[in-house]
Amino acid sequence: MEKVRKKILIIEDSDLQRKLLNRWISNHGYTPLEAISLSDAREIISKDQVDVVLLDWELPDGSGIELISEIFSSSPIGWLPIIMVTGHTEPENLKLAIEAGATDYITKPAKEIELLARIFSALRMKSLHDQLRETAIRDVLTGLYNRRYMEERIEQEFQRCKRHKHSLSLAMIDIDFFKKVNDTYGHETGDIVLKRIAFELKTSLRKSDIISRFGGEEFVIVFPETGVNDATKVLDKIRESVSSIELKSEAGENFKVSFSGGVAGGDITEIDNPAELLRTADKLLYEAKSSGRNRIVS
Ligand SMILES: [Mg+2]
Repeated sequence: MEKVRKKILIIEDSDLQRKLLNRWISNHGYTPLEAISLSDAREIISKDQVDVVLLDWELPDGSGIELISEIFSSSPIGWLPIIMVTGHTEPENLKLAIEAGATDYITKPAKEIELLARIFSALRMKSLHDQLRETAIRDVLTGLYNRRYMEERIEQEFQRCKRHKHSLSLAMIDIDFFKKVNDTYGHETGDIVLKRIAFELKTSLRKSDIISRFGGEEFVIVFPETGVNDATKVLDKIRESVSSIELKSEAGENFKVSFSGGVAGGDITEIDNPAELLRTADKLLYEAKSSGRNRIVS
């Protein structure tokens, strides 16, 4: 299997400096990404999986130091190792940068070997961070994202899609008569059902869709840059295939389950906050339940 190349984002407005850093980084098997301003950088961080940021102190749209918290909030993982690369050599600046959240600090003119050592150390920190985070954001039973993480992501995706005037859809689904499954076949069988539905969602949805176990038998899915019709169509297909699956209980009895869902969103320009979107999806889910279950309402 091909090793995934680590992505190093260079935020630097000087063409000369950027080219130099880019060459060093590429020569050592990393993938360089380039930004010349904060707005550039924000876009790249929210879309690309950046591993380390090299941050210039002086940028056209602000001071690098002030960008640090914005870099954290633009990142899907809420944090990134940041190495300040700066002409400021005073120790006070080192202190300022570290206190503002930078991981490391290197003065210009940077030496290739020193920069690479610092990148290596930053990558090690990132890998530890990722391992910890992975266990903190997953639902243990299904392997899907948990509710805490989903709430963060809904907020992020909502703001991002709103800023770019893209559509965004959100679905809330709930397994029909799940309590009855547990009461009839036992909780182990209930777990089998949850895992199977999680599997169907994971394998049927796109990589860009964000799937979570939101509550006991409730799942929330975010479809970025997707209208309600498309989201509903996809979900309805999954609903249909799930309802035809022959499941087996722990004791060997055959049974079937279904789920209901509500899909809200689409054009979100008139929607003020993601909580509103969740409320609407919840209301539509309730409609799906009260109008007979095993259906998607949008
Ligand atoms: Mg500069």
